[in-house]
Amino acid sequence: MTETIKTDVLIIGAGPVGLFAVFELGLLDIRAHVVDILDKIGGQCAELYPEKPIYDIPGFPVVTGQGLVDNLLKQIEPFSPVFHLSRMIEKVERIGDPLFRVTTDAGDIFEAKAVVIAAGGGSFQPKKPPIDGIAAYEGKSVSYAVRQMETLRDRSVLIVGGGDSALDWTLNLHAVARRVTLLHRRDVFRAAPHSVEQMRALVAAGKIDLCFGQVVGLEGEDGMLTAATVREDSGRVYSIPVDHMLPFFGLTMKLGPVSDWGLDLHNGELVLVSTETFETSQPGIFAIGDINWYPGKLKLILSGFHEGALMAQKVHRYIYPDKRLTFQYTTSSSSLQRKLGVL
Ligand code: FAD
Repeated sequence: MTETIKTDVLIIGAGPVGLFAVFELGLLDIRAHVVDILDKIGGQCAELYPEKPIYDIPGFPVVTGQGLVDNLLKQIEPFSPVFHLSRMIEKVERIGDPLFRVTTDAGDIFEAKAVVIAAGGGSFQPKKPPIDGIAAYEGKSVSYAVRQMETLRDRSVLIVGGGDSALDWTLNLHAVARRVTLLHRRDVFRAAPHSVEQMRALVAAGKIDLCFGQVVGLEGEDGMLTAATVREDSGRVYSIPVDHMLPFFGLTMKLGPVSDWGLDLHNGELVLVSTETFETSQPGIFAIGDINWYPGKLKLILSGFHEGALMAQKVHRYIYPDKRLTFQYTTSSSSLQRKLGVL
Protein backbone atom coordinates (compact mmCIF):
# COMPACT_ATOMS: atom_id res chain seq x y z
CA MET A 1 0.00 0.00 0.00
CA THR A 2 1.24 3.53 -0.80
CA GLU A 3 2.53 5.30 2.27
CA THR A 4 0.84 8.61 2.99
CA ILE A 5 3.26 11.54 2.81
CA LYS A 6 2.56 14.06 5.57
CA THR A 7 3.50 17.69 5.18
CA ASP A 8 2.46 21.11 6.45
CA VAL A 9 1.58 22.37 2.99
CA LEU A 10 1.17 20.77 -0.40
CA ILE A 11 1.93 23.10 -3.30
CA ILE A 12 0.34 22.16 -6.63
CA GLY A 13 2.61 23.47 -9.40
CA ALA A 14 6.37 24.02 -9.54
CA GLY A 15 6.20 27.20 -11.61
CA PRO A 16 7.93 30.39 -10.44
CA VAL A 17 5.05 31.23 -8.11
CA GLY A 18 4.94 27.78 -6.50
CA LEU A 19 8.72 27.96 -6.01
CA PHE A 20 8.65 31.36 -4.33
CA ALA A 21 5.78 30.16 -2.11
CA VAL A 22 8.24 27.60 -0.68
CA PHE A 23 10.45 30.53 0.36
CA GLU A 24 7.71 32.60 1.98
CA LEU A 25 6.36 29.55 3.83
CA GLY A 26 9.87 28.47 4.84
CA LEU A 27 10.57 31.82 6.50
CA LEU A 28 7.57 31.08 8.73
CA ASP A 29 8.81 27.53 9.58
CA ILE A 30 6.28 25.89 7.28
CA ARG A 31 7.50 22.92 5.23
CA ALA A 32 6.22 22.11 1.78
CA HIS A 33 6.09 19.35 -0.81
CA VAL A 34 5.64 20.45 -4.43
CA VAL A 35 3.94 18.41 -7.17
CA ASP A 36 3.99 19.08 -10.92
CA ILE A 37 2.66 17.35 -14.03
CA LEU A 38 5.78 18.27 -15.97
CA ASP A 39 9.02 16.32 -15.68
CA LYS A 40 10.89 19.50 -14.86
CA ILE A 41 10.72 22.35 -12.38
CA GLY A 42 9.87 25.89 -13.50
CA GLY A 43 6.37 25.93 -15.05
CA GLN A 44 5.92 28.16 -18.10
CA CYS A 45 9.38 29.75 -17.64
CA ALA A 46 11.15 26.41 -18.05
CA GLU A 47 8.72 24.77 -20.45
CA LEU A 48 7.79 27.56 -22.83
CA TYR A 49 10.57 30.14 -22.78
CA PRO A 50 13.70 28.92 -20.94
CA GLU A 51 16.07 30.99 -23.07
CA LYS A 52 13.95 34.09 -23.53
CA PRO A 53 14.80 37.19 -21.54
CA ILE A 54 12.36 38.52 -18.93
CA TYR A 55 12.75 42.22 -18.14
CA ASP A 56 10.21 42.86 -15.38
CA ILE A 57 11.41 40.81 -12.44
CA PRO A 58 12.24 43.32 -9.68
CA GLY A 59 15.99 43.55 -9.12
CA PHE A 60 16.88 41.68 -12.32
CA PRO A 61 17.17 44.05 -15.29
CA VAL A 62 17.22 40.91 -17.42
CA VAL A 63 16.98 37.21 -16.63
CA THR A 64 16.04 34.26 -18.83
CA GLY A 65 13.13 32.00 -17.98
CA GLN A 66 15.50 29.21 -16.91
CA GLY A 67 17.80 31.70 -15.15
CA LEU A 68 14.91 32.84 -12.97
CA VAL A 69 13.99 29.24 -12.13
CA ASP A 70 17.62 28.42 -11.24
CA ASN A 71 17.80 31.45 -8.94
CA LEU A 72 14.50 30.58 -7.27
CA LEU A 73 15.76 27.04 -6.68
CA LYS A 74 18.90 28.42 -5.06
CA GLN A 75 16.86 30.81 -2.93
CA ILE A 76 14.63 28.01 -1.56
CA GLU A 77 17.48 25.56 -0.92
CA PRO A 78 17.55 26.31 2.84
CA PHE A 79 13.98 25.05 3.14
CA SER A 80 14.63 21.67 1.43
CA PRO A 81 11.34 21.38 -0.46
CA VAL A 82 10.51 17.91 -1.72
CA PHE A 83 9.54 17.78 -5.41
CA HIS A 84 7.32 15.13 -6.98
CA LEU A 85 7.45 15.52 -10.75
CA SER A 86 5.56 13.91 -13.65
CA ARG A 87 2.39 13.49 -11.62
CA MET A 88 -0.88 15.33 -11.72
CA ILE A 89 -2.89 16.20 -8.65
CA GLU A 90 -6.31 14.72 -9.28
CA LYS A 91 -8.18 14.94 -6.01
CA VAL A 92 -8.21 17.26 -3.01
CA GLU A 93 -10.48 16.07 -0.17
CA ARG A 94 -11.07 17.71 3.19
CA ILE A 95 -10.56 15.19 5.99
CA GLY A 96 -10.10 17.56 8.95
CA ASP A 97 -10.29 21.17 10.01
CA PRO A 98 -8.19 21.94 8.16
CA LEU A 99 -6.55 18.76 6.91
CA PHE A 100 -6.57 17.55 3.34
CA ARG A 101 -5.95 14.27 1.56
CA VAL A 102 -4.49 14.96 -1.85
CA THR A 103 -3.95 12.25 -4.47
CA THR A 104 -2.06 12.12 -7.75
CA ASP A 105 -2.58 10.13 -10.93
CA ALA A 106 0.57 8.19 -9.99
CA GLY A 107 -1.10 6.94 -6.82
CA ASP A 108 0.75 9.19 -4.32
CA ILE A 109 -1.24 10.21 -1.28
CA PHE A 110 -0.41 13.37 0.68
CA GLU A 111 -1.86 14.67 3.91
CA ALA A 112 -1.46 18.42 4.32
CA LYS A 113 -2.86 21.04 6.67
CA ALA A 114 -3.11 23.52 3.82
CA VAL A 115 -3.11 23.23 0.03
CA VAL A 116 -1.67 25.94 -2.19
CA ILE A 117 -2.80 25.81 -5.81
CA ALA A 118 -0.08 27.42 -7.96
CA ALA A 119 -1.20 25.59 -11.08
CA GLY A 120 -0.77 28.45 -13.57
CA GLY A 121 -3.03 27.94 -16.56
CA GLY A 122 -3.72 24.41 -15.41
CA SER A 123 -2.39 21.81 -17.76
CA PHE A 124 -1.34 23.79 -20.81
CA GLN A 125 -1.20 22.27 -24.28
CA PRO A 126 -0.03 23.86 -27.53
CA LYS A 127 -2.72 24.29 -30.17
CA LYS A 128 -1.67 22.17 -33.14
CA PRO A 129 -2.19 23.15 -36.77
CA PRO A 130 -4.52 20.82 -38.72
CA ILE A 131 -1.91 19.41 -41.13
CA ASP A 132 -2.19 15.81 -42.30
CA GLY A 133 0.67 13.64 -41.04
CA ILE A 134 2.18 16.30 -38.73
CA ALA A 135 2.34 13.83 -35.82
CA ALA A 136 5.12 11.88 -37.60
CA TYR A 137 7.39 14.95 -37.39
CA GLU A 138 6.52 16.10 -33.86
CA GLY A 139 9.42 15.94 -31.44
CA LYS A 140 11.90 15.51 -34.29
CA SER A 141 11.53 18.38 -36.74
CA VAL A 142 8.28 20.00 -35.61
CA SER A 143 8.11 21.47 -32.13
CA TYR A 144 5.81 23.80 -30.25
CA ALA A 145 8.41 25.31 -27.92
CA VAL A 146 12.14 25.98 -28.13
CA ARG A 147 13.96 24.20 -25.33
CA GLN A 148 17.50 24.97 -26.51
CA MET A 149 18.26 27.40 -29.29
CA GLU A 150 21.50 25.51 -30.03
CA THR A 151 19.53 22.56 -31.42
CA LEU A 152 18.41 24.89 -34.23
CA ARG A 153 21.86 26.21 -35.09
CA ASP A 154 22.50 26.26 -38.84
CA ARG A 155 19.06 24.83 -39.60
CA SER A 156 16.41 26.26 -41.92
CA VAL A 157 13.59 27.13 -39.56
CA LEU A 158 10.01 27.86 -40.54
CA ILE A 159 8.14 29.78 -37.84
CA VAL A 160 4.38 29.81 -38.29
CA GLY A 161 2.11 32.33 -36.57
CA GLY A 162 1.54 36.03 -36.01
CA GLY A 163 1.51 36.41 -32.23
CA ASP A 164 4.17 37.23 -29.67
CA SER A 165 5.75 33.78 -29.55
CA ALA A 166 6.14 33.59 -33.35
CA LEU A 167 7.65 37.07 -33.54
CA ASP A 168 9.87 36.67 -30.47
CA TRP A 169 11.33 33.43 -31.77
CA THR A 170 11.83 34.92 -35.21
CA LEU A 171 13.88 37.69 -33.62
CA ASN A 172 15.78 35.37 -31.28
CA LEU A 173 16.54 32.60 -33.76
CA HIS A 174 17.60 34.54 -36.83
CA ALA A 175 21.14 34.90 -35.43
CA VAL A 176 21.44 31.16 -34.72
CA ALA A 177 19.58 29.45 -37.56
CA ARG A 178 20.92 29.20 -41.12
CA ARG A 179 17.72 30.85 -42.33
CA VAL A 180 14.49 31.84 -40.61
CA THR A 181 11.24 32.10 -42.55
CA LEU A 182 8.23 33.61 -40.82
CA LEU A 183 4.93 32.46 -42.27
CA HIS A 184 1.60 34.03 -41.35
CA ARG A 185 -1.83 33.92 -42.92
CA ARG A 186 -1.77 37.60 -43.83
CA ASP A 187 0.31 40.73 -43.34
CA VAL A 188 -1.32 41.68 -40.03
CA PHE A 189 0.34 40.67 -36.75
CA ARG A 190 -1.07 40.40 -33.21
CA ALA A 191 2.40 40.59 -31.65
CA ALA A 192 3.81 43.64 -29.82
CA PRO A 193 4.29 46.50 -32.34
CA HIS A 194 7.96 46.83 -31.38
CA SER A 195 8.63 43.16 -32.28
CA VAL A 196 6.77 43.58 -35.57
CA GLU A 197 8.93 46.63 -36.40
CA GLN A 198 12.12 44.69 -35.61
CA MET A 199 10.95 41.77 -37.74
CA ARG A 200 10.18 44.08 -40.70
CA ALA A 201 13.63 45.66 -40.38
CA LEU A 202 15.25 42.20 -40.62
CA VAL A 203 13.14 41.38 -43.69
CA ALA A 204 14.13 44.69 -45.30
CA ALA A 205 17.82 43.91 -44.58
CA GLY A 206 17.43 40.50 -46.27
CA LYS A 207 18.24 38.64 -43.03
CA ILE A 208 14.97 36.70 -42.76
CA ASP A 209 12.10 35.80 -45.10
CA LEU A 210 8.46 36.72 -44.57
CA CYS A 211 5.82 34.66 -46.41
CA PHE A 212 2.04 34.52 -46.34
CA GLY A 213 -0.34 31.59 -46.46
CA GLN A 214 -1.05 28.40 -44.55
CA VAL A 215 0.91 25.18 -44.35
CA VAL A 216 -1.18 22.51 -46.08
CA GLY A 217 1.36 19.70 -46.33
CA LEU A 218 4.75 18.49 -45.14
CA GLU A 219 7.47 16.60 -46.97
CA GLY A 220 10.25 14.59 -45.41
CA GLU A 221 11.36 11.15 -44.27
CA ASP A 222 11.65 9.41 -40.91
CA GLY A 223 10.26 12.44 -39.11
CA MET A 224 12.80 14.83 -40.66
CA LEU A 225 11.24 17.65 -42.64
CA THR A 226 12.60 18.75 -46.00
CA ALA A 227 9.83 21.12 -47.17
CA ALA A 228 6.49 22.63 -46.24
CA THR A 229 3.75 23.15 -48.81
CA VAL A 230 2.03 26.50 -48.39
CA ARG A 231 -1.23 27.77 -49.88
CA GLU A 232 -1.85 31.51 -50.16
CA ASP A 233 -5.34 33.02 -49.81
CA SER A 234 -5.23 33.57 -53.61
CA GLY A 235 -5.02 29.80 -54.08
CA ARG A 236 -1.36 29.80 -55.21
CA VAL A 237 0.51 26.81 -53.77
CA TYR A 238 4.28 26.84 -53.25
CA SER A 239 6.95 24.99 -51.32
CA ILE A 240 9.41 26.26 -48.67
CA PRO A 241 12.55 24.16 -48.04
CA VAL A 242 12.78 23.65 -44.27
CA ASP A 243 14.58 21.50 -41.68
CA HIS A 244 12.49 22.44 -38.69
CA MET A 245 9.03 23.93 -38.21
CA LEU A 246 7.82 25.84 -35.15
CA PRO A 247 4.05 26.44 -35.23
CA PHE A 248 2.99 29.02 -32.61
CA PHE A 249 -0.80 28.94 -32.57
CA GLY A 250 -1.22 29.67 -28.88
CA LEU A 251 -1.94 27.43 -25.96
CA THR A 252 -5.09 25.86 -24.71
CA MET A 253 -5.21 26.35 -21.00
CA LYS A 254 -7.22 23.58 -19.46
CA LEU A 255 -8.14 24.07 -15.86
CA GLY A 256 -8.20 20.28 -15.55
CA PRO A 257 -8.98 18.62 -12.23
CA VAL A 258 -8.87 21.95 -10.31
CA SER A 259 -12.45 22.56 -11.47
CA ASP A 260 -13.62 19.48 -9.53
CA TRP A 261 -12.45 20.59 -6.10
CA GLY A 262 -15.55 22.56 -5.12
CA LEU A 263 -13.92 25.99 -5.40
CA ASP A 264 -15.75 29.15 -6.50
CA LEU A 265 -14.51 30.02 -9.98
CA HIS A 266 -14.43 33.17 -12.12
CA ASN A 267 -15.92 32.53 -15.58
CA GLY A 268 -15.51 28.81 -14.90
CA GLU A 269 -11.78 29.16 -15.54
CA LEU A 270 -9.92 30.80 -12.68
CA VAL A 271 -10.04 30.35 -8.93
CA LEU A 272 -11.61 33.22 -6.99
CA VAL A 273 -9.54 34.36 -4.00
CA SER A 274 -9.57 36.92 -1.24
CA THR A 275 -6.93 39.58 -1.89
CA GLU A 276 -6.12 39.71 1.82
CA THR A 277 -5.11 36.07 2.22
CA PHE A 278 -5.30 34.49 -1.26
CA GLU A 279 -7.54 31.86 0.26
CA THR A 280 -10.20 30.33 -1.99
CA SER A 281 -13.85 29.78 -1.11
CA GLN A 282 -12.66 26.65 0.77
CA PRO A 283 -10.84 27.49 4.02
CA GLY A 284 -7.34 26.03 3.99
CA ILE A 285 -7.09 25.94 0.18
CA PHE A 286 -5.18 28.84 -1.35
CA ALA A 287 -4.61 29.87 -4.98
CA ILE A 288 -1.71 32.04 -6.17
CA GLY A 289 -0.20 32.99 -9.52
CA ASP A 290 -1.83 32.70 -12.94
CA ILE A 291 -4.52 30.30 -11.70
CA ASN A 292 -6.33 32.83 -9.50
CA TRP A 293 -8.59 35.77 -10.17
CA TYR A 294 -9.55 38.90 -8.27
CA PRO A 295 -10.49 42.38 -9.49
CA GLY A 296 -7.41 43.96 -11.05
CA LYS A 297 -5.48 40.68 -11.37
CA LEU A 298 -2.40 40.86 -13.62
CA LYS A 299 -0.90 37.57 -14.79
CA LEU A 300 2.64 38.61 -13.96
CA ILE A 301 5.27 36.68 -12.07
CA LEU A 302 5.77 39.58 -9.65
CA SER A 303 2.05 39.53 -8.74
CA GLY A 304 2.34 35.83 -7.90
CA PHE A 305 5.31 36.51 -5.60
CA HIS A 306 3.30 39.10 -3.64
CA GLU A 307 0.34 36.72 -3.43
CA GLY A 308 2.62 34.01 -2.01
CA ALA A 309 3.83 36.32 0.77
CA LEU A 310 0.29 37.11 1.93
CA MET A 311 -0.84 33.51 1.57
CA ALA A 312 1.96 32.37 3.92
CA GLN A 313 0.72 34.71 6.67
CA LYS A 314 -2.71 33.06 6.69
CA VAL A 315 -1.31 29.53 6.33
CA HIS A 316 0.77 30.21 9.48
CA ARG A 317 -2.49 30.60 11.43
CA TYR A 318 -3.55 27.10 10.39
CA ILE A 319 -0.21 25.43 11.06
CA TYR A 320 0.60 27.25 14.31
CA PRO A 321 -2.78 28.42 15.69
CA ASP A 322 -1.26 29.30 19.09
CA LYS A 323 1.81 31.18 17.83
CA ARG A 324 1.79 34.92 17.29
CA LEU A 325 3.33 35.97 14.00
CA THR A 326 5.69 38.93 14.19
CA PHE A 327 6.54 40.80 11.04
CA GLN A 328 10.30 40.72 10.38
CA TYR A 329 12.75 41.83 7.69
CA THR A 330 15.37 39.41 6.34
CA THR A 331 17.95 42.23 6.49
CA SER A 332 17.66 42.69 10.24
CA SER A 333 16.13 39.55 11.77
CA SER A 334 18.73 37.14 13.11
CA SER A 335 15.98 34.53 13.46
CA LEU A 336 15.18 34.71 9.73
CA GLN A 337 18.88 34.74 8.87
CA ARG A 338 19.42 31.56 10.89
CA LYS A 339 16.63 29.88 8.92
CA LEU A 340 18.31 30.99 5.71
CA GLY A 341 21.61 29.54 6.93
CA VAL A 342 23.47 32.85 6.61
CA LEU A 343 24.09 33.38 10.34
P1 FAD B 1 3.05 28.29 -14.26
O1 FAD B 1 4.35 28.85 -14.62
O2 FAD B 1 2.04 28.07 -15.35
O3 FAD B 1 3.29 26.92 -13.50
C1 FAD B 1 2.18 26.14 -13.11
C2 FAD B 1 2.63 24.69 -13.00
O4 FAD B 1 1.54 23.95 -12.42
C3 FAD B 1 2.92 24.05 -14.34
O5 FAD B 1 4.25 23.56 -14.34
C4 FAD B 1 1.87 22.93 -14.48
O6 FAD B 1 2.41 21.78 -15.10
C5 FAD B 1 1.52 22.66 -13.02
N1 FAD B 1 0.18 22.09 -12.84
C6 FAD B 1 -1.00 22.56 -13.33
N2 FAD B 1 -2.03 21.78 -12.92
C7 FAD B 1 -1.46 20.80 -12.15
C8 FAD B 1 -1.99 19.67 -11.44
N3 FAD B 1 -3.31 19.39 -11.41
N4 FAD B 1 -1.11 18.84 -10.81
C9 FAD B 1 0.23 19.10 -10.81
N5 FAD B 1 0.79 20.16 -11.45
C10 FAD B 1 -0.05 20.99 -12.10
N6 FAD B 1 5.42 37.02 -16.96
C11 FAD B 1 6.10 38.09 -16.50
O7 FAD B 1 5.91 38.52 -15.36
N7 FAD B 1 7.04 38.71 -17.30
C12 FAD B 1 7.32 38.28 -18.57
O8 FAD B 1 8.14 38.88 -19.27
C13 FAD B 1 6.62 37.13 -19.06
N8 FAD B 1 6.87 36.65 -20.30
C14 FAD B 1 6.19 35.54 -20.75
C15 FAD B 1 6.48 35.03 -22.02
C16 FAD B 1 5.82 33.92 -22.49
C17 FAD B 1 6.14 33.37 -23.84
C18 FAD B 1 4.82 33.29 -21.66
C19 FAD B 1 4.08 32.07 -22.14
C20 FAD B 1 4.53 33.79 -20.40
C21 FAD B 1 5.21 34.93 -19.93
N9 FAD B 1 4.94 35.45 -18.67
C22 FAD B 1 5.65 36.54 -18.21
C23 FAD B 1 3.90 34.88 -17.80
C24 FAD B 1 4.55 34.03 -16.69
O9 FAD B 1 5.32 33.00 -17.27
C25 FAD B 1 3.44 33.48 -15.82
O10 FAD B 1 2.76 34.56 -15.21
C26 FAD B 1 4.05 32.58 -14.74
O11 FAD B 1 4.70 31.47 -15.30
C27 FAD B 1 2.95 32.11 -13.79
O12 FAD B 1 3.58 31.32 -12.84
P2 FAD B 1 2.76 30.20 -12.05
O13 FAD B 1 3.76 29.57 -11.15
O14 FAD B 1 1.51 30.80 -11.51
O15 FAD B 1 2.27 29.17 -13.18
